[in-house]
Amino acid sequence: MKDIFSSIASYAEWVKDQKKPLGELASYLSDRIESVDKELHAFIGIDKKAITKRAADLEAKKTKGRLWALPVGIKNNICIKDALTTCASHILDGFRPPYNATVVEKLQAADALLLDGLNMDEFAFGSSCETSYYGPTRNPWDTTRIPGGSSGGSAASVASGEVAVSLGSDTGGSIRQPASLCGVVGFKPTYGRVSRYGLIAFASSLDQIGPITRNIADCAAMLEVISGYDPKDSTSANLDVPKYTEYLDRDIKGLRIGIPKEYFISGIEPGVGKRVKEAIDVFKKLGAELVDISLPHTRFAVSCYYIVGPAEASSNLARYDGVHYGYRSAGAKDLIEMYISSRNEAFGAEAKRRILLGTYALSSGYYDAYYLKALKVRTKIAADFKEAFKNCDVILTPTSPTTAFKIGEKINDPLTMYLSDVFTIPANLAGLPAASIPCGKDEKGLPVGLQLMAPAFEETVIIKAAHAFERNTDFHKDFAGARFKDNNEKI
Ligand code: GLN
Repeated sequence: MKDIFSSIASYAEWVKDQKKPLGELASYLSDRIESVDKELHAFIGIDKKAITKRAADLEAKKTKGRLWALPVGIKNNICIKDALTTCASHILDGFRPPYNATVVEKLQAADALLLDGLNMDEFAFGSSCETSYYGPTRNPWDTTRIPGGSSGGSAASVASGEVAVSLGSDTGGSIRQPASLCGVVGFKPTYGRVSRYGLIAFASSLDQIGPITRNIADCAAMLEVISGYDPKDSTSANLDVPKYTEYLDRDIKGLRIGIPKEYFISGIEPGVGKRVKEAIDVFKKLGAELVDISLPHTRFAVSCYYIVGPAEASSNLARYDGVHYGYRSAGAKDLIEMYISSRNEAFGAEAKRRILLGTYALSSGYYDAYYLKALKVRTKIAADFKEAFKNCDVILTPTSPTTAFKIGEKINDPLTMYLSDVFTIPANLAGLPAASIPCGKDEKGLPVGLQLMAPAFEETVIIKAAHAFERNTDFHKDFAGARFKDNNEKI
């Protein structure tokens, strides 16, 4: 398949060259998605009519915004007015939000062409995209494998060239881990940097929306568009947003990169460890200073997350009762039975597991032993980072201990699945910005990603470091979409 989305800038050139009405381009792009998606299933479904209408609206505009006609894929837990928003769950069957998420308004104001319906794990619970009620998305590098999760559709669609860029959400790694497994860039901003208004909540104190892109320059541009204070989100930070694109092309001589010993452990696949070590050497050659650091509470992060996350999720998911939204069980005798059967019939196994875990951890008698304790551990994890950032500017780790695993390999073993996020969860617990960037392939030809984490609201350091790495390597140029046939060469 032709690579028309290698960068936002090159796509803008391509659009200009086409000299075609936007409606025609939009239908070409939707056909292209449909043909590749027979193999990938990155989208739960695409609404061609809605896309054509959005293209017509753009065409009618007198001015052209910064992202004019740029196809941006939207994870199916971000509300677009009147568009089917399912969270990949049966319980939200037929739900069409009556309002737009703030990020959606911002993208529309920049004249992006929104392509909604990207597949995900149900309610973002998962690391493989297999808990989707609509079936799994496949990894474009090897369609027998998972793309990562929960934003699996967001990562697979960008990696395969179905869309130019996408939005995902990240509660414990859901942007970074799939970006790593699909060989693209994924950025989780600082908690509070991007409005969560209109993001269907999983764990409100951890969730953040962020971009998935083919390169750092596109990521910086997307961050500029979607970031900023929003009075509709009470946790949104009232701070100026830096011009992220001004931090591209910077020198990183003297940049202090922290290497935490707790992240280079025996469970990492050799192929991952090797690539990340080579990447560290690249940074060294570019003049960065490597600093050995310790984040001693790292080993408690997964346990802490699997109390805090499910506790918040169990409360957030209480609203799905068969009355307000979506699915309602037929034939119940009374109201209570209707609540119970609707939830029982329409939540998948992982969603039920999280609700049970969370309800248990919050219940009287266990609250102090589990939830309160987890909050204390969370404070310790945040304090570790504060201490570490006294000696370094940015922290480098692998994003995921493994490359993409086979579909079905871990789905019946939740504990092993939960360990997929061992390196990404701490940044959520501490509210820090963190990104995954491609750093090569393992011996099976599967992408490896490295993670960069920075102090709160210092996304610019990550952009500076990541772009320096990207300028001096070719990993981001690998294009998974080259493996797919374009059945539609009419353009
Ligand atoms: N995989 C993690 C989980 O299952 C993280 C998910 C996420 O970030 N949404 O909870």
